[in-house]
Amino acid sequence: MLQKNTEKFHKIITRLAKSHSATREELLLLLKNRQELGQEQREFLFSEARRNATRYYGNKIYLRGLIEISSFCRNDCFYCGLRRSNGNATRYRLSEEEILTCVESGKRLGLQTFVLQGGEDSYWTVPRLADIIRKIKKASPTCAVTLSLGEMTRSDYAALFEAGADRYLLRHEAASEGLYSKLHPKEMPLSRRLKALKDLASIGYQVGSGFMVGRPFETIEDTADDLIFLKNLAPSMVGIGPFVPQADTPLGLHCPGTSDETIFLLAVIRLLLPSVLLPATTALITLDRDGYEKAVLAGANVIMPSLTPQTARQAYKIYDGKASAEDTVQQIEIIGERLKRIGYEISLDRGDAKKTGEH
Ligand code: SAH
Repeated sequence: MLQKNTEKFHKIITRLAKSHSATREELLLLLKNRQELGQEQREFLFSEARRNATRYYGNKIYLRGLIEISSFCRNDCFYCGLRRSNGNATRYRLSEEEILTCVESGKRLGLQTFVLQGGEDSYWTVPRLADIIRKIKKASPTCAVTLSLGEMTRSDYAALFEAGADRYLLRHEAASEGLYSKLHPKEMPLSRRLKALKDLASIGYQVGSGFMVGRPFETIEDTADDLIFLKNLAPSMVGIGPFVPQADTPLGLHCPGTSDETIFLLAVIRLLLPSVLLPATTALITLDRDGYEKAVLAGANVIMPSLTPQTARQAYKIYDGKASAEDTVQQIEIIGERLKRIGYEISLDRGDAKKTGEH
């Protein structure tokens, strides 16, 4: 990397770490030079990111129990193995009892956040979802329920919030119209996604957004726009993970994203949004066996072990090669040991988002 760029890079990171902002040009410069960065500069970025995460969350990493409730989906996103046109997908739907059993087993392990994720499955109507949320909350009043079930109307989101849901994960996927429309069919406009995010926040949910790293067709400008979008949205959570091709989708032959870029972006997002809840996602672990350590050392502070029953877990194939070997007890044990080795530890707290400035 040119000396001139090294100095610029150092300046941008220093300013990001202090003021948590950067111009589009500065973000572009970071993204453009990412691959030429020396070890020292990368370590500077990561240590600043860690310092910010530690300021808010200490050396604690929150755990969330992930329950993949359905692999049926009415949507046809070009990247996702659950898309309705995928005739090779194995479809399943957990029963209410199965979901409650997953929650129970998570509770026994001390988990206090349950993430219900799935395709947009018409079986799971709002009354059915509200009912299960109420049951989870009744059995565990202090736990947090997070939903990740795609786009709904404002009144549906409001009804689920009323039933007790606390948080909602809905990645914006791409902030630029051009890229969004290359990843989604026409009947899924970006405007609807943005409205959904606005609705969720105005109802009172803790909102999570994010995007896949290394999406087909993306440019550096798109990624800079995604970072600016997230900064302006100021969500409580940001989920990013590498794009991993799923063979039965239209984008199945595209290259995957990289662990390297994901970790780099995790650090930049931690600096832009210092108090955000930032998971080391399963997609990252799928591509990089050392993903947990690398992500945490770049400012991530959440891990989501799966509570989904094994057979369903394999069928929930949004991408190929999904890491899913161990049962939940083993997963948590392994996560604990691995974190310990790098000076971090599991926290079983509910782990609500903190506001920037509130330590
Ligand atoms: N139906 C819900 C949950 C979908 S899965 C929703 O639409 O929000 C959650 C996330 O997985 C998506 O937001 C997407 O960013 C990610 N995902 C989907 N396909 C993927 C792939 N091939 N590689 C990596 N991540 C993928």
